[in-house]
Amino acid sequence: MAEFDYLIVGAGLFGAVFAHEAKKNNKKCLVIDRRSHAGGNIYCENKDGINVHKYGAHIFHTNDKPIWDYVNSFVEFNRYTNSPMALYNGEMYNLPFNMNTFYQLWKVKTPEEAQAKIQEQVASLNITNPQNLEEQALSLVGTDVYEKLIKGYTEKQWGRDAKDLPAFIIKRLPVRFTFDNNYFNDKYQGIPVGGYNKLTEALFAGTEVRLGVDYIANRAEFDQLADTVVFTGQIDEYYNYRFGQLEYRSLRFEHEHLNIPNFQGNAVVNYTERQVPFTRIIEHKHFEFGTQPTTVITREYPQEWKSGDEPYYPINDDKNTQLFKQYQQLAEAETKVIFGGRLAEYRYYDMHQVIGAALAKTKKIFPA
Ligand code: UDP
Repeated sequence: MAEFDYLIVGAGLFGAVFAHEAKKNNKKCLVIDRRSHAGGNIYCENKDGINVHKYGAHIFHTNDKPIWDYVNSFVEFNRYTNSPMALYNGEMYNLPFNMNTFYQLWKVKTPEEAQAKIQEQVASLNITNPQNLEEQALSLVGTDVYEKLIKGYTEKQWGRDAKDLPAFIIKRLPVRFTFDNNYFNDKYQGIPVGGYNKLTEALFAGTEVRLGVDYIANRAEFDQLADTVVFTGQIDEYYNYRFGQLEYRSLRFEHEHLNIPNFQGNAVVNYTERQVPFTRIIEHKHFEFGTQPTTVITREYPQEWKSGDEPYYPINDDKNTQLFKQYQQLAEAETKVIFGGRLAEYRYYDMHQVIGAALAKTKKIFPA
């Protein structure tokens, strides 16, 4: 008999939800992580009372009431609404693309005028069936919005020409003909009061978490500890890269602690010009309406990923999708390993989707 029912590799959100649900069903889990802290990429570091999103801004949003109720059962969420600003060529624009943006661009005052302006630009392009991000964006919002607010940002974010990127990436962003700067269309949105660590700590309560340990390097030893492994790391690494390496887009964060109370007046300002090397500046205190005397800002630099770097975004192009499918076939044949989360499923997951996936998985294993 192994000591644990489940060994959960990776203390991120998938692992946290799995651990909580397993515990509720009287299963004993051991969670391990390479990092020196739990929480994966939603982990926050406290600086002067400010929760710094160390691995990039995380804003919780969902349309799914059960998922919203689920997270709120562990920690209260505040009323933060993401309304990023974009800075292009010295001018500020509201995001996502809405009547405020269209007024700032063209001084149009009504939805009809804005639609006519976009239609005029779209019509001259003759795109019938958008095949890539550039065509998708152009056919949605026309040339001006694309050139000023999308092209530069997207190409530095992904390190690729917008013509070589999948269209779905841009479909994440709403286009609205109302004066509404809410970045998300979802019904529910907010940030945990007191930061994301409150959420992960609550999910891991009562479960042993060992930090700073490497599963891959000590696999045989760890496998003995549990009946089943829940693996949330990179699936290609799990299989020793036997079919080749999956690619990612990485990020580098430059954190700065400033002795002023308010740097940019908003949590997120996107720099949509190609020439500015970072994509955005995050001012963390504004996620929680902080009134501290100092502030922490983070410049986010997209980076080409190489082995050993933090893998942030999967590159869901044809080549990588095919490669992932090969690994997925191996994964599906496993009887004692469960794969889950952004890295194991190689998906551009938002937090609510990770939680949804973990709950779906645990519901199957532990039917009520
Ligand atoms: N995007 C853009 N301009 C912006 C913000 C986003 O063109 O000012 C595009 C870009 O291609 C990006 C995609 O929209 O990759 C999705 O943006 P989102 O903010 O959802 O990305 P995340 O926060 O997940 O990095």
